[in-house]
Amino acid sequence: MPQPDPTADVFGGGLPYRRGDQGPAVAQLRAHLARLDLVAADPPGADPGARHLMESQFDADVESAVLAFQQQRGLACDGVVGPQTWRLLDDARWQLGDRVLRFAPTHMLSGDDVAALQGRLLELGFDPGRIDALFGIDTEQALRDFQRNVGIPVDGLCGPVTFKALDRLARTVVGGAAQHLRETQRWAGSGPGLAGKIVVIDPGHGGRDTGAVGHGLIESEVVADLAARIEGRLVAVGVSAYLTRGRLAPAAEPPDESTRAALANRLDADLVVSLHTDGHPNASAHGVATFYYGAGPSGASSAVGERVAHLVQDEVVSRTDLLDGHTDGKTWDLLRRTRMPAVRLEVGYLTNAGDAARLADPAFRDTIAEAVLVALQQLYLPAEAPSPSVVLLQPAPAPVA
Ligand SMILES: [Zn+2]
Repeated sequence: MPQPDPTADVFGGGLPYRRGDQGPAVAQLRAHLARLDLVAADPPGADPGARHLMESQFDADVESAVLAFQQQRGLACDGVVGPQTWRLLDDARWQLGDRVLRFAPTHMLSGDDVAALQGRLLELGFDPGRIDALFGIDTEQALRDFQRNVGIPVDGLCGPVTFKALDRLARTVVGGAAQHLRETQRWAGSGPGLAGKIVVIDPGHGGRDTGAVGHGLIESEVVADLAARIEGRLVAVGVSAYLTRGRLAPAAEPPDESTRAALANRLDADLVVSLHTDGHPNASAHGVATFYYGAGPSGASSAVGERVAHLVQDEVVSRTDLLDGHTDGKTWDLLRRTRMPAVRLEVGYLTNAGDAARLADPAFRDTIAEAVLVALQQLYLPAEAPSPSVVLLQPAPAPVA
């Protein structure tokens, strides 16, 4: 991990540097350029005894490295290191994760790592202001929004916990591919894509209605926890997510399904995802099932709801070892009274020892939450765009030798 260089300002004071200069500042310049693979760290054939002197020559190699750097960064290409080139070279030392980033009003942090953070926040639907590599107040605010939405401590510091959360979401959301603004806009815009949508997450039961119980687990609590994990992921990609209930006191009367449906209608939601676990007198019953609004072959049904249900079912089944139950049309109130597509996920049986052990594991709940997120992303993916999952599941055939 590079450390802040206390001599940077001293060397900056001798600017500009150009071909023919020599001294410690030139040695530092060469080291910066070498880290970027623009010049060899040691001049070839350098005499070890004269090495220090040799390294500090602003020679033709250093000059062409400076020119290459200036071209990369869109600076005027003159091969001379003035204040702007010097500052960008200093910025380029930092990769996201090298140091803790924070807002300091009197001495704003600057670096490629700050620019990377700003880009990542923008991809995830938060607004850091301009991507200017400066950790200003807007960047801090966007970072706090992100932290709040993924449920990590809201301290405005970009440190190890935040790096981890950013990393996990980047892989979940974009498969590491969306560095460019055009792709960013796919998530941040209001067209195709999940960003900007309104999704209601409905943790079933609550309060005095515990739902299924078994093996030390209570359905109303399991699904409330799962709902929070899904909510964090949705908000992080720019979705407005709402829950139909909070964590109710044990004696509280939970909202009924019609009330929950009315909330979704009032919010004019794009989608409702209802979360349940199952229970059965037969302890061997297990697996995952999803439901959508439908009344059998002769009745009305929701085509989009059916598609969402299949997507959710497929993603959960492909990411876990839960038994693939079924995807069915039902006329339950929440499915019937909602004016938008609604699905109900029944993820595992608490009365089954195997399913319950899985559901007790927070990592397993995260897997389910990611499965739901990816399923919803698939739903809103433009028809012509390859989905991240498809890319992963269908590698290109090996070339014939
Ligand atoms: Zn239930």
